[in-house]
Order: sequence, then structure tokens, then C-alpha cells
Amino acid sequence: MSDAIRLYFFQTGRIRQKEVDIKLGYGQEDFFTPIPWFFITHPRGNVVIDGGTAVEAALDPEGHWGALINKYYPLMDPEDGCVNRLKQAGFDPADVKYVIHSHLHLDHTGACGNFPNAKHIVQRREYEWAFSADWYMKLGYVMKDILKPGIEWEFLEDEDGFDLYGDGVIQTYQSPGHSPGHQSIMVRLPNSGPILLAIDAAYTFEHWNDKCLPGALTSAIEVAASVRKLRRLAERENAMVVPGHDPDSWPSFKKAPDFYD
Ligand SMILES: [Zn+2]
Repeated sequence: MSDAIRLYFFQTGRIRQKEVDIKLGYGQEDFFTPIPWFFITHPRGNVVIDGGTAVEAALDPEGHWGALINKYYPLMDPEDGCVNRLKQAGFDPADVKYVIHSHLHLDHTGACGNFPNAKHIVQRREYEWAFSADWYMKLGYVMKDILKPGIEWEFLEDEDGFDLYGDGVIQTYQSPGHSPGHQSIMVRLPNSGPILLAIDAAYTFEHWNDKCLPGALTSAIEVAASVRKLRRLAERENAMVVPGHDPDSWPSFKKAPDFYD
């Protein structure tokens, strides 16, 4: 376990969809989005955020994701699975103390069941919606991931500003609208300063800058309000903002094995 606080950016390949499925009202052209996930070393225990797409979807897209692949197709090398990439970077999956889930869509549940000593933190509202999602979002939840055996869940009861270690380094902020229990994660680093992982509260900077809504959402009202809230937070702290699936800005961030500290 490292004593240094560091934030690593990883990626489980990409997803192919139509541009309109990311940016509401845009075109029908194929559009390729990165699938990010994050890893934080902290003296009190290492943390995975989301874990990207599960390896099973890379091995058998239709078998694992079902009919959703007709709209969202995973382009992923099984080698890109979060456990494999962490091991390659020299980390022990057994040292992961927490997995923080922004939400439980199928490109964010790759960590489920893969970290034997981790508690999985999620908003209860999100977990319950995963089991009861309305028709237009039902396929976005893969219960084979969420119900993997051995997962120890820890639920946040609409808690806003949850501070994992009480030191302000890793703090979650409710940002619903893309899904009912979505949360974004602020990581405050000693040298790099605050980095706001908006995750799917802002797929791209077009969302962040009020140019369009995301192609998948449960509430346009909440989506817009969440972006406003996160923008205020980021401006107040002068945070670097990382959108959830932005092919334009993603190449500009440092990737593992490089890191922010
Ligand atoms: Zn999502």
C-alpha cells in the first residue's frame, strides 16, 4: 500500500453508438466514446472508482449486455479489465478497500465482484432503481454484474458531500438526472489540486457548457440542475473537470501509469 495520494486514469476501451445517443438532438453518425475509470492510492486504503466495463462484455458482448449492443457496442480488449490493468500497474487487488460507484450503468460496473476486500459504496436510490428501472433504461443495468456473489454494499442515503476518509481527499456529490442516484466525485490532491470527476453528470464538455442534454437521462430538469451545481463547485475550488465520456478532452488527461498527485 502506498503512502502517497495519487489519482490514476484508466480506460476499458470504448463504446460505439450514434452521436445522438451521447448528445441529444445531434446526428446519426457512429460516435466512439472512451470508457474511463479511476484508481486512487491513499494511506488509509486504495479506492477504485467505477471500474469501467466488465471483462465479460469484452469476451461475449451479446451474452453479457443483451439487446443493448444494438445501440451501444463495447469495443474492449479483455486485457483492459480493471483487475488486470491494476495488476500490470503493480497494485494488488486485495489492497482495494473501497469501490465508489458513480452509478450502476453497465459501463461502470466492471469492479463488481472483483475486489475481495472492498466495500462497494453507492447511493441507495441508484441501487434500487437498477432493480426497478423503467423500460427506456432497463437494459442499461446488467444484473449479472450488480448481483455478483460476495459484494459488500454500503449505501448512501441521499448523502451529499460524503467524505470517504474525513480528510476531504475523496468526496462524493449527488448529481442525478442521467440516472436517479448518480453521484460525481471530487478528488483533492496535494500537488495537482482538486479534480472533479463529473462522470456521467456531464458526458462531454457540450453538456458541461449547456450546449446539449445527454442522450440517456431520467430527468432533464435534474440533469441541468446537477451540471449547474457541479459548475459552482468546480469554480469555487478552481477544480480541473473531467467529463464522463468525452472523446475530445479524454486524450488531454494523463493516463496510468502516469498519475496526478
Ligand atoms: Zn451512465
